[in-house]
Amino acid sequence: QNSDSQVLIKMYSEAAKLYSHILLKTENGTPALKYLNGRDLDNGLIETFDLGYAPNNSNLLLQFFKDRKIDDSTLRKSGLFAENQEGELFDRFRDRVMVPITDEAGNIIAFSGRILNKSEGTAKYMNSPETPIFNKSKALFNLSNAKKAIRDNKSVILFEGFMDVISAYKAGVTNGVASMGTSLTDQQLYTLSRLTNQINVCYDGDDPGVEATYRALTQLNDDRFSYGVISVPNQKDPDEYIRSDGADKFKNLVENGVQTPMSFILNYFRRNYNLNNEHDQIEFLNRSLNEIVKLQSPVEIDMYVGKIADEMGVSKEAINKELDTLRRKMA
Ligand code: ATP
Ligand code: MN
Ligand code: MN
Ligand code: MN
Repeated sequence: QNSDSQVLIKMYSEAAKLYSHILLKTENGTPALKYLNGRDLDNGLIETFDLGYAPNNSNLLLQFFKDRKIDDSTLRKSGLFAENQEGELFDRFRDRVMVPITDEAGNIIAFSGRILNKSEGTAKYMNSPETPIFNKSKALFNLSNAKKAIRDNKSVILFEGFMDVISAYKAGVTNGVASMGTSLTDQQLYTLSRLTNQINVCYDGDDPGVEATYRALTQLNDDRFSYGVISVPNQKDPDEYIRSDGADKFKNLVENGVQTPMSFILNYFRRNYNLNNEHDQIEFLNRSLNEIVKLQSPVEIDMYVGKIADEMGVSKEAINKELDTLRRKMA
């Protein structure tokens, strides 16, 4: 790493310390601390994840680094500041709970800031821009913390949100990571491939989460990995589920409720069709067979053919004939 990066890493570390101090030790931080405690995040957990609070002040961090003689060009490179129309810098993050993002070695390289209260026209989460130390398609939230647990569990859990990762950690599920709101990139897959060959997707249980899971499964075809799906009940996200149903139920879901991608996909199709209607039944059957035909394992194929045959009241022979036709078309 060049000296430029080292300066930026030091700045992020100092900024995180300042934000953490404000959250835990000052009156300015009280509303944010109340907000986090209200989400069942106690001070120990807040310290584990280095959470902080950026107060509603547009030059707090700016003055902090000016006092430390950081030059203008470095301030601009850091991504910690935004620029007004006059070209003057001001603190990018204001009145937000600050979630540090680390690199694999645990250095803080970026922040995601969450607003305390819903407000119109303001993004709920704001992320640092790309900088010489922060590449959004490389970073994985919590990877540095989770590494050992990923190896020990022989699996990684991919969550949608940072709060899901943090709540899961609190519940004792410590092998979770989250991307920066994008689908997994080749670089992230490469990083994970050095730790495990099992990726379990545990996105939100609401409609967007289910859609995102389907998209993720159709995109994730890196054959270094096996994939699983952990479906969170009642439209909840993992954090909401843990808070409403408890850590034990979530742990049980993670340990015993991992679905195969095919089982998830068939459920996903089922919800989109009215299976009392013959036209929908045929559509469902066709879409399902188009997925089943992609499977490699004869045992798995036979299993799903059996299930679909039972469910739709058709013979396995008929389904296998259809699959043969599909295979000929694909060849
Ligand atoms: P919370 O529990 O704090 O309300 P969440 O994680 O449940 O947040 P979702 O709406 O489910 O929030 O979004 C999932 C993830 O998508 C977030 O954790 C964040 O990484 C990303 N995200 C959501 N909204 C935004 C946004 N406006 N800008 C950038 N990223 C976002
Ligand atoms: Mn969501
Ligand atoms: Mn969510
Ligand atoms: Mn949430």
